[in-house]
Amino acid sequence: MRLFDPHIHMTSRTTDDYERMAAAGIAAVVEPAFWVGQPRTHVGTFEDYFLSLLGWERFRASQFGVQHFCALALNPKEANNPRVADGVLALLAEYLEKDGVVAVGEIGFDDQTDAEERYFAAQLRLAREHDLPVLIHTPHRDKKRGTERTLALLRRLEFPPALTLVDHNTEETLPLTLAAGCWAGHSIYPTTKLDEARMVALIRQYGAERILVNSAADWGVSDPLKVAKTVAAMRDAGIAADAIETIVWRNPVRFFAQSGRLDVADAPAPSRVDQRALFEGNSVLRGQPARVDPA
Ligand SMILES: [Zn+2]
Repeated sequence: MRLFDPHIHMTSRTTDDYERMAAAGIAAVVEPAFWVGQPRTHVGTFEDYFLSLLGWERFRASQFGVQHFCALALNPKEANNPRVADGVLALLAEYLEKDGVVAVGEIGFDDQTDAEERYFAAQLRLAREHDLPVLIHTPHRDKKRGTERTLALLRRLEFPPALTLVDHNTEETLPLTLAAGCWAGHSIYPTTKLDEARMVALIRQYGAERILVNSAADWGVSDPLKVAKTVAAMRDAGIAADAIETIVWRNPVRFFAQSGRLDVADAPAPSRVDQRALFEGNSVLRGQPARVDPA
């Protein structure tokens, strides 16, 4: 079974992670643009970040047999930084047109400030203009209220629920997200928040429809194999193979295919790797022998 991690920040991870992910069956990922751990001070650093998500990171993933797509946005946290917020929004119009961009994201609330709401709404409008789905972050603090505010804003702007993936759900927010008609993402973390066992319980209660699972792995304590580990937990719990495949492959494919830019191979095998390839003259090999899969 091929697996899809629909929310992972590979820029912050190593080639070892790509190798382990591919070996665990992860064939495709979506990398949303996010906060890099410290505030950016120039709009130009966002532009180079967007370019690396579209260029180098996509190439790096391909060198390990993983198909890489991205979502671009001004992240919720930096919506509060007036030095960059308007400039990043101005950049997005051009970048949302690029091949490989399958959503606007991650957007949403962090501290639930007025500035966050303003840029969240502006980016929902951008998504409509560019005919793209949205990937929405929900806050870790005061999550239920943040999710309610998110769903209220979506309703007020008449943003289509079918194009909305509300992420980082928990037992508290999942019923709200599903009742609104949105797709529901779940981030499985090593020690905090949601874990595999709680995810299995949610699937038992709510089924597989519009449910997605991701690792949200980044530069913090996180685990890029969490989608594969959740699959193992679902199997152990006796969840039907068809439901598992819906959650970890068909749902993310159906959701992001609404961008018109998600072209995943139909073949059950992982993508062919040719590490002789270069990106603007550079490879990931550092002098190691290239792996070349038979054609
Ligand atoms: Zn994220």
